[in-house]
Amino acid sequence: MRAMILDAPRRPLRAAEVPRPEPGPGQVRLAVTACGVCRTDLHVADGELPDPKLPLVLGHEIVGTVAATGQGPGGDRFRTGQRVGVPWLGWSCGACRYCRAGRENLCDRARFTGYQIDGGYAEHTVADARFCFPIPDAYSDLHAAPLLCAGLIGYRSLVAAGDAERLGLYGFGAAAHIVAQVARHQGRRVFAFTRPGDAAAQQFALELGAEWVGASDVPPPEPLDAAIIFAPAGALVPVALRAVAKGGTVVCAGIHMSDIPAFPYDILWGERVIRSVANLTRNDGEEFLALAPKVPVRTQVEPYPLERANEALENLRAGRVRGAAVLDVDGRTGRG
Ligand SMILES: [Zn+2]
Ligand SMILES: [Zn+2]
Repeated sequence: MRAMILDAPRRPLRAAEVPRPEPGPGQVRLAVTACGVCRTDLHVADGELPDPKLPLVLGHEIVGTVAATGQGPGGDRFRTGQRVGVPWLGWSCGACRYCRAGRENLCDRARFTGYQIDGGYAEHTVADARFCFPIPDAYSDLHAAPLLCAGLIGYRSLVAAGDAERLGLYGFGAAAHIVAQVARHQGRRVFAFTRPGDAAAQQFALELGAEWVGASDVPPPEPLDAAIIFAPAGALVPVALRAVAKGGTVVCAGIHMSDIPAFPYDILWGERVIRSVANLTRNDGEEFLALAPKVPVRTQVEPYPLERANEALENLRAGRVRGAAVLDVDGRTGRG
């Protein structure tokens, strides 16, 4: 099969023909149709996340059809030909104190798709059937892919923001363009912050229901009740703390961030909260994939052929993607 291979961090992905993986016990093999390109893929490729499996197939927003099922319990959860999605959480132990408390996103032994497990930048992939989701019928393969991480982890971040009415979103990429739609559906007011001078992203945010847009170095017109930081820039943490009212929460949604600069205690005082959001639980996935068609969340995607994955990653790095970059792995753009 064709695959894009990461041989080592800080090297471009290499197009290669590799053996097709076969499903083990409890696994399914998917014929991949689409795979989203997430900022976390850049963090893995850039060596900012330690100890990836090498060589590695990136990609954890996978949509495909079940081509084969493995023996053993769980392998028969889906039937051949069924369309399913594979998210970032690829496996959890089920036994540690986090797993037993419904917090498998924090599992001590969790394994992640496109990091410790080969992912979806390939024509086929295998996944533990227990961690896959059926894809809502309302979405094409390409449009469903961003739901699986930008959507899921964006949704978890929105829940972590509490019942905030005035919501700030720092970084208006794949996750924010989905979260803005869900937040508006919930009756919240959305304030979007972009890189200074990024008029295209600001216009995009307005189209998706933001009532105010501005550069991240500009204070909002009124205090916010919560802010979610999607951009991997630690310098935004004190900026967002200054933008939230007393009792407000700042949610750091990314898996990696540059260092957070020192800041005076008085911007945290007043029961302001800083927290991170880590990974996802299967419960997040079930909730969000049931909610998305009701909003309805419409994803905006930029398709790339599998062989152009490096270009998709570079465009994401440069902030040139409107919505989400998605690899059109089987080359059938627009299929329903
Ligand atoms: Zn566990
Ligand atoms: Zn992701």
